[in-house]
Amino acid sequence: MASDRTGNTLRPELLDEVTYNRLCDYSPNVAVLPWGATEAHGMHLPYTTDNVQAQAFAARAAAIAREAGARPVVLPVVPFGSNAQQLDQVATCHLSASTMSAILRDIVRSMTTQGMDRLLIVNSHGGNEFRPFVRDLQVECGALIVVADFWRIRPHLRQEIFDVPGDHADESEASLLLYLRPDLVRLQDAGEGERVPFSIGELSQPGVWTPRPWAAVHPDTGSGDPRKATAEKGRRYFEGVSEAIAEVIVGLSRARPGDIPYLDRAGEE
Ligand SMILES: [Zn+2]
Repeated sequence: MASDRTGNTLRPELLDEVTYNRLCDYSPNVAVLPWGATEAHGMHLPYTTDNVQAQAFAARAAAIAREAGARPVVLPVVPFGSNAQQLDQVATCHLSASTMSAILRDIVRSMTTQGMDRLLIVNSHGGNEFRPFVRDLQVECGALIVVADFWRIRPHLRQEIFDVPGDHADESEASLLLYLRPDLVRLQDAGEGERVPFSIGELSQPGVWTPRPWAAVHPDTGSGDPRKATAEKGRRYFEGVSEAIAEVIVGLSRARPGDIPYLDRAGEE
């Protein structure tokens, strides 16, 4: 592992740190794409919380996977996502589905042009839906594309570690940020993360869905009470989920054409 003049360690699996010659020597075969969002995260977390998380999970998982012999490379985080229902909140940035699909297509095409036909998206934002894009792109580009929604990984960890359920600026996200970037957290300002139920109660049943109009449903922009968050909870969750993502990277890196679902012509099922 190399160091720069100040003694900082430079990791070959991160585009943020690696140079061309070192990357050529390292010869990565799995692209890892962190994908976040820019949106309000309660009164206690920064707008770019999802980007911090996606980048950190991708980097940690890639480091673990490289130690295990894999050859991933982590691309810079895509900092914008699907946030149509938060557009009435200042400085929210929303990408339409067609824009997100176009960005993903151009990144996948760039990678496949260079012979890298395995891509893992590390997604940190619940509004980002990649599945329709992936189905199309696999046929179009012949790449194996995998999506990892970090909050869905190892669900038992969420139950074991956290006291209060939630899905946005909640105890889990606040704990992750307390571990990863405590300088950015103002837990003393946190609200309750209240969820106002739909007035049309008939819509609230399994299998029936419509997006939440965020400001009306979540008055302080959070979903789930974050006030029991701790850095130690964040560390346990972060390491557990990173290990699982690393396993995915290892499996992708060592796959040979013909290993299902990495078919000779990816996209055929
Ligand atoms: Zn978030």
